[in-house]
Amino acid sequence: MKLWPGFLTLSLSLLLSMAPLTRAQSKKASGKTATAVSAGGPQKMDVEYTRLIRQYLQDSRITTELVDHMPASDTVPSPLKFFGRIPGTPGELTYAKDINRYYEALAAASPRAKFWKLGQTEEGRDQVLLAIADEATIKDLDKYKGMLAALTDPRRTTELQAQQIIKTGKPIYWANSGIHSPETGGPEMLIELAYRMIVEETPFIQSIRNNMIFLITPVIEVDGREKQVDTYYYGKKTGKQRPPLMYWGKYVAHDNNRDGMGQYLKLTQNITKGVLDWHPTVFHDLHEAQSYLYVSTGTGPYNNSLDPIQVNEWWLLAETEVMEMAKRNVPGVWTYGFYDGWVPNYLFWIAITHNSFGRFYEVQSYGPDINENLRLQQTVTSREWYRPNPPLSSIKWGPRNNTNIQESTLLFAMHQVAQNKELYLENYWMKNKRSVEKGREGPTYAWVIPAAQRRRVDAADMVNALRAQGVEVHVAGSAFKAGNAEVAAGDYIVRADQPYRTLADMYFSVQNYPPANPRPYDDTGWTMQYMRNIKLVTVNNRSVLDEPMAMIDSDVKVRGRLEGSGTTLVIDHTTDNALMAFRFKHPAVKMFAAEDDFDLNGHKFRAGAFVIPNADAAALRPSIQALGLSAWAAGAAPSVKTHEMEIPRIGYVHAWQRTQDEGWVRAALDTYGVPYAYFSDQRLRDGNLRAKYDVIIYPHVGGNSQSHLTGIPKIGPDPVPYKKSDLTPNLGALDQSDDIRGGMGMDGLAELAKFVQDGGTLIAEGSSAAFLADYGLASGVSVDHPAALFARGSILRGMITDRKSPITYGYDGKDLPVYFNQDPVFNASAGPVGFGGGFQGGGSPLGQNVTPNAVPVHISGYDENSPAAPPTPSQADEAAAMRQQLRAFGFVEGARPRVVMQFPANANDMLLSGTLAGGQTIVNRPLALDVELGKGHIVMFALRPFWRWQTQGTYFLGFNTILNWNHLDAGKPEPRP
Ligand SMILES: [Zn+2]
Repeated sequence: MKLWPGFLTLSLSLLLSMAPLTRAQSKKASGKTATAVSAGGPQKMDVEYTRLIRQYLQDSRITTELVDHMPASDTVPSPLKFFGRIPGTPGELTYAKDINRYYEALAAASPRAKFWKLGQTEEGRDQVLLAIADEATIKDLDKYKGMLAALTDPRRTTELQAQQIIKTGKPIYWANSGIHSPETGGPEMLIELAYRMIVEETPFIQSIRNNMIFLITPVIEVDGREKQVDTYYYGKKTGKQRPPLMYWGKYVAHDNNRDGMGQYLKLTQNITKGVLDWHPTVFHDLHEAQSYLYVSTGTGPYNNSLDPIQVNEWWLLAETEVMEMAKRNVPGVWTYGFYDGWVPNYLFWIAITHNSFGRFYEVQSYGPDINENLRLQQTVTSREWYRPNPPLSSIKWGPRNNTNIQESTLLFAMHQVAQNKELYLENYWMKNKRSVEKGREGPTYAWVIPAAQRRRVDAADMVNALRAQGVEVHVAGSAFKAGNAEVAAGDYIVRADQPYRTLADMYFSVQNYPPANPRPYDDTGWTMQYMRNIKLVTVNNRSVLDEPMAMIDSDVKVRGRLEGSGTTLVIDHTTDNALMAFRFKHPAVKMFAAEDDFDLNGHKFRAGAFVIPNADAAALRPSIQALGLSAWAAGAAPSVKTHEMEIPRIGYVHAWQRTQDEGWVRAALDTYGVPYAYFSDQRLRDGNLRAKYDVIIYPHVGGNSQSHLTGIPKIGPDPVPYKKSDLTPNLGALDQSDDIRGGMGMDGLAELAKFVQDGGTLIAEGSSAAFLADYGLASGVSVDHPAALFARGSILRGMITDRKSPITYGYDGKDLPVYFNQDPVFNASAGPVGFGGGFQGGGSPLGQNVTPNAVPVHISGYDENSPAAPPTPSQADEAAAMRQQLRAFGFVEGARPRVVMQFPANANDMLLSGTLAGGQTIVNRPLALDVELGKGHIVMFALRPFWRWQTQGTYFLGFNTILNWNHLDAGKPEPRP
């Protein structure tokens, strides 16, 4: 497109009637404000579009001069032209594939835009990017991209060059939305904003377009968006109850925004690649969970590894937005009192860990249905220093309010960055420069990951995970000593004098979240080497930087070894997760597990070592080598007791009410090639489980024990289907049901009991483990809810109390870092039990906000931080009744479960990273339990072995249970006389 026709075609009266600044607004607005008059004269307005904006606005206070009109274009299709409606139209939502199609059309129609695909998701949908800037900048996009890359690396760019780039470069502002599928407004607003940014000719918009590059990813979770739109229209068109959004992506729901560190999901990997490629100056996520618009700064405590500049940037920009909206008397734009700023696992932290400026909004829900009277509690409407113009106690709210408020605020943010582009470019340069300088100045100069450590395959995985996030990793050329570190040739070295030292420092540090702080928003501890159970040495001597080392330029592959000769193969059990892949890669090969530690040809093996008699070494050697395993061939079987590891038929139970956390367990099974049959809790009622399965995995669901039994309540006359249909073509990829209500019920629970009694192994973790205890399936185990305990997403020390239990095979230490999140706290009748559930401590002020006037509440979505509620008295009665029933299934009062792991005996010994108070309440409490029921076993974890693709160090507690499912009694101490 060459020029904007029609600048002068608008009559003065029409222009006045369409004038973007209403009289009231022009009185209240001051400073830099936009008008629809460009330097070249007034721009032609899209009269119908503008009329619709005003028609759909539910409250006249929720608008600004930036968004109350829409310019016309003869060449670029407006949203109205393309979709037949505008963003903010009540009762309508747009599929991601159509938004992406629109963006493609914008780029085809305008030289001010460029469109490309970032990558695909697990379900094969595209994540896209649209770049918008002035025509010359779009033509020269690669030049500007190169400038930002140069500002990233002070080892290659001189100060002089940097200062030149700061003057001539342009910041990139990358806005994205739709990571949380039920939060529907961001993608709709971005449809309109893209068009406005391309066609509008006000000085305000021109200033952004000419000084900055605007990148948009309208929908991050494209798989979930399509399902959300499906379920919305299902409800609208049938008048029936809408199915809840069970699955967003293939694996998780809300946790797709907790994958910044784990980086398992394709959507995270694609964005990370984009950040490493483009070095966005600002990266901005649009969410919907506060009233009316919260701009992120957070209450603190802020992450200790942050450059102070980042904190200042948060505040500088947030205060600008709050002020500009207050100037226009738009109520409810505020900052501070929500979210902390601690854990680096959110999408926008992918920018922060790479020294860019990451931030987010939480906007009042889009709907798209109108809320005739949105009422808010006083806790969110009070006037506070950080909320000088608070939301109203009641208002008519709808999708156009949502569009207006976030489009306006975002425009003010972008305008501020565009107007101060040198400041933001200089800040970016400074953050990179200081990151490198910190590594040169110490006290931490490098981190060394010994290559020859026991878990060397998972150590290499960790190196690859760091590299995928842009961290440079070197390999030591020869052995050397640097201060406290003895480095061997081949060891991995993460130098601290690199720009992305920020990320390494955040991941490797030990967290200490003082409990007196505001309630943490999410995990408090995440130390990478603890969660992965990998040895890592922090080097405190500068000489390390001068030692010979070579940069790794492709993924590290550990090559396995097979030594000796003979027909019996023995494979070391190191708890490297690749061993699980090996077992399932050769299901037809008979493999045995050693039941004790033993020596063979001078090598010490830990119990659990794989013994393969009459092995076809030629057939197994390639996978031993490819998977990095350590194997020895011997002429005869070692003199150690073994049992066969029969490949189990695995059933995998999910609950319809929440499929969030189970996805992380599936991720681990899928990655290591473990097959399973996936079905819902409702199907348990069908019975006959033992005939079909040897192992049933029932991962954490969340909620309380009663909800595990009842599932989604059967309210209303109609069934609630979750399945693929003409109306809902995007549902049903993983599982379907004609009616998702009702849960497993007592019948399903009884079938589970029968399954175990008949010799099956049931694996449960977190809430599902608590449920089995509460409903009496697990003899001798009860659940406590100590009021004084505060352990929010922390890494605690787990003591391995039974080294002969197959569940702990391969683990060679006395203890192991485990992820624990507040509950469940088990009480087992066997083994030493600490203070019991009665300990009340001194009470604790934990979790209270320091500003009680502004306790955050969730308006939409759900709060994944809520602990499961303790059982109500009626539930407790029900559980007692169930316990009675279960006697028939082999439940034994006073039975002694086998405690395989437990918390330390001393509360001061527990916390490894994160937060903990009231540790006395969990002294010696079980973390992993093996409970007998009839001929089978229930294995229960209070720790979370498969937490968010981060706890690779504890995966094998679950894997061992699967591999040894029918020999869990191995090594069991004789009952006391
Ligand atoms: Zn969200």
